[in-house]
Amino acid sequence: MNTEKPEISLVLPIFNEEESLQELFERVTKTMESLNQPYEVITIDDGSRDGSFRMLSDFHEQDKRWRVIRLTRNFGQSAAIYAGFSVSRGHYVIMIDADLQMYPEDIPLVYEKLTEGYDMVSGWRTNRKDNPFRRVMSRLLNIYTERVTGFPFHDHGCSLKGYRRTMVERMVAFTHRCRYLPVDAAMLGGNVAEVPVRHCPRQHGQSKYSVFKLFHFAFHMITTITIMPLQALSVLGIIFALIGTTVGAYVFFVYLLSGDLIALQTIIAVLFFLAGVQLFATGLMGEYVGRIYIETQRKPLFIIEKELD
Ligand code: UDP
Ligand code: MG
Repeated sequence: MNTEKPEISLVLPIFNEEESLQELFERVTKTMESLNQPYEVITIDDGSRDGSFRMLSDFHEQDKRWRVIRLTRNFGQSAAIYAGFSVSRGHYVIMIDADLQMYPEDIPLVYEKLTEGYDMVSGWRTNRKDNPFRRVMSRLLNIYTERVTGFPFHDHGCSLKGYRRTMVERMVAFTHRCRYLPVDAAMLGGNVAEVPVRHCPRQHGQSKYSVFKLFHFAFHMITTITIMPLQALSVLGIIFALIGTTVGAYVFFVYLLSGDLIALQTIIAVLFFLAGVQLFATGLMGEYVGRIYIETQRKPLFIIEKELD
């Protein structure tokens, strides 16, 4: 194994992409050569069942800068990227999808921005070519991620991104298992920038994300980042209990003024109040469960950038 540190490590997650790989190899090679910098390409075969691994092995034979990491099964895009990060050696680590929806020719834009001194550079698909459902979903998740991370990116989900070595090392050192890359990166702080990049429809095969998988991903992401859904239960409980109390007060006044006990409203008041108390209690328990969850993630409390001592 070559132990010399290249300037750039390019990380490519691959799951059944045999139809795109030859073109990817050619375009990536051409682009990386144009940068005139030592580089390595780390391909992660995320348990492909087609001929991807065989093709990647061929690339490795042709050009030893193409490294191949094969995972034992399909672990998912995020895990594959982390696997690539963990073996990367470059001063800068850039990731891009292997299906050619992102243009390998845009890699230099990210690299050049990084060399201006940024710790992380994210692509921004200004002309995103996905179906409207994906775009709406992505926009919602983007607003959420922006809120949580405080990074004002237009396109957190863009898969063309670059990091400085220190960022990657710190991300790999995290021990929590629920990973969402943009949030992990945001935890580290640092100078970040965005560059507009191109996007095109998928040429071969289909997206690896079905509608079901997308919902699963969105739910997973939201529950990974915050315990807010659990805390929301308490708030909902308080609202229910307040409605119950208000209706109860109304019933009480009517009873005082007229001596009539209105049955339906009484039942509603009692139901809402009890449901509210129950929800609040569940939310309270959720709060403790949430704290256990946060503790088990063992995320660092702080990260020192430098020390003048
Ligand atoms: N991918 C992967 N493992 C998976 C799913 C996807 O390594 O379980 C790779 C896939 O081969 C591609 C990239 O991740 O290089 C993005 O996948 P895809 O194009 O299907 O996602 P989309 O563009 O629809 O978001
Ligand atoms: Mg794609």
